[in-house]
Amino acid sequence: MLLMRIMRAIYMKIEQIKETITIVKDYPIKGIVFKDITTLLEHPEAFKSTVDIMIDKVKDLDFNRVVGVESRGFFWSGSIAYALSKSYVLARKPGKLPRKAAEKHFTLEYGTNTVHIHEDAIKKGDRVLVVDDLIATGGTAMATAELCQELGATEVHIIALIDLPKLGGSKKLADKFGEVITLIDY
Ligand code: AMP
Repeated sequence: MLLMRIMRAIYMKIEQIKETITIVKDYPIKGIVFKDITTLLEHPEAFKSTVDIMIDKVKDLDFNRVVGVESRGFFWSGSIAYALSKSYVLARKPGKLPRKAAEKHFTLEYGTNTVHIHEDAIKKGDRVLVVDDLIATGGTAMATAELCQELGATEVHIIALIDLPKLGGSKKLADKFGEVITLIDY
């Protein structure tokens, strides 16, 4: 009964969080329905609830590093790493990391990209939590997770605020890395 009440409260909170996200049609190119989370960030209650729910969902997982995906993964990943006192590693776009970095190319819902991680930021046997804002085709999270593995990570968990399940990315990621945690579906 208590569990049901807690689940219902979380569901309601997630519905409220969803209402603060703005849908922008044809951005950045025609045909893309962009989920703009800047309006969520402007709502202190929605921001706090989102972080609290994410932390609650990952707090019992076994990971020693949080890997935040540039750039909209940074708010969530930074908050999680801070709250759970975990090592915080940045997965960045080209030309942003000052020291020797490993890289991986991937395809986006619109365009292509490359993810970079400092070579010494992930050690053999690390268990990582990859954090992004949204999973579309899953290419970004897949490249980040695979790069972590190439650098020595033996366990990879993935969390994102939003999932676009129709694009199949979260399913692909789940097939390879196990459960993918997301809060909001479109
Ligand atoms: P993907 O690699 O296809 O899973 O795309 C995920 C990345 O692209 C995330 O970091 C998102 O920030 C961004 N992205 C892709 N599609 C959208 C969308 N429809 N709305 C907002 N962001 C998106």
